[in-house]
Amino acid sequence: MKYEVIVVGGSFAGLSAALQLARARRQVLVVDAGAPRNRFAAHAHGFLGHDGKPPAQILGEAVEQLLRYPSAMLRQATAVSAAREGEEEFRLTLDDGSSLAARRLVLATGVRDELPPLAGLHERWGNTVVHCPYCHGYELETPLGVLAWHPVALHQAMLVPDWGPTTLFTQGLVEPDADEAARLAARGVHIEHQPVVELLGEAPALDGVRLADGRSVPVRGLFIAPRTRMASPLAEQLGCAFEDGPLGPLLRVDGTGQTSVPGVFAGGDAVTAFTNAPRAAASGVLAGVAAHRSLFMGLSA
Ligand SMILES: Cc1cc2nc3c(=O)[nH]c(=O)nc-3n(C[C@H](O)[C@H](O)[C@H](O)COP(=O)(O)OP(=O)(O)OC[C@H]3O[C@@H](n4cnc5c(N)ncnc54)[C@H](O)[C@@H]3O)c2cc1C
Repeated sequence: MKYEVIVVGGSFAGLSAALQLARARRQVLVVDAGAPRNRFAAHAHGFLGHDGKPPAQILGEAVEQLLRYPSAMLRQATAVSAAREGEEEFRLTLDDGSSLAARRLVLATGVRDELPPLAGLHERWGNTVVHCPYCHGYELETPLGVLAWHPVALHQAMLVPDWGPTTLFTQGLVEPDADEAARLAARGVHIEHQPVVELLGEAPALDGVRLADGRSVPVRGLFIAPRTRMASPLAEQLGCAFEDGPLGPLLRVDGTGQTSVPGVFAGGDAVTAFTNAPRAAASGVLAGVAAHRSLFMGLSA
């Protein structure tokens, strides 16, 4: 069977793309491995109309609404390979060995976060250790910390004081210049140069951090900007172009979500460095609409 469109990734971006296609009465299959990026957080925030809901509930409601459309289908599986097979044909192989064909692909496979190997950090990720103050800052107890793992930490340290008293732990990785130090001081940010070696307290709660010199500093919430990598190899297998983002590689798309490979569209965290669920949903909508348009306009339009 050949689908009109296969969407790989059934989270905020992929389901949004599929919804547009289903509403255009097009046959669309979503293939999803079921591991959205924010699955570590008990609640999602900042998504209009869904603020405070568990991520799985938001996505569950979205799937239920999508599958009301008779031309929409969902398959729980991991797509392990993708290739172009002809002018209007892409082939996808799933981890159960099955092989699927589609005229168009939408990649909404997201990114993976690469966290530093620090004792006590992984078990707090999405709870008391988070990356986005807009998503989770309001719920954190104070005082707060920003743990450098990337130069973006300086930007985070400027933001975070609006959520509570803040210490920037430089980890020997970032060194504010005189201007930056003055701006951080004006925001009341304390700078700690001794590296953090351990997170303290009964996880997922956080009571503080232990420094290399043995001191401990009370911190109830910690921000970190993880480096990211593509969550799936499909775009690379298809020959899609990438660009360097501030935290990791991003899939190159035009303003509609068209990748460098005609007929392959993309949306969500894989295409932008400023990531959140509403933005992923919006770019998924664009990719779905662009895929739909290409079905009747052709690949070169
Ligand atoms: C800890 C944490 C908390 C967050 N909290 C918030 C919040 O409160 N509010 C907010 O707006 N944003 C939040 N975010 C950001 C938000 O999670 C992302 O922006 C959003 O999930 C991106 O959506 P996406 O559809 O692009 O990718 P994802 O949600 O990551 O979904 C990608 C989907 O593709 C699937 N997939 C990947 N590869 C394959 C494959 N080969 N075959 C089949 N399926 C595949 C995955 O299993 C997954 O289901 C948070 C992020 C993190 C890390």
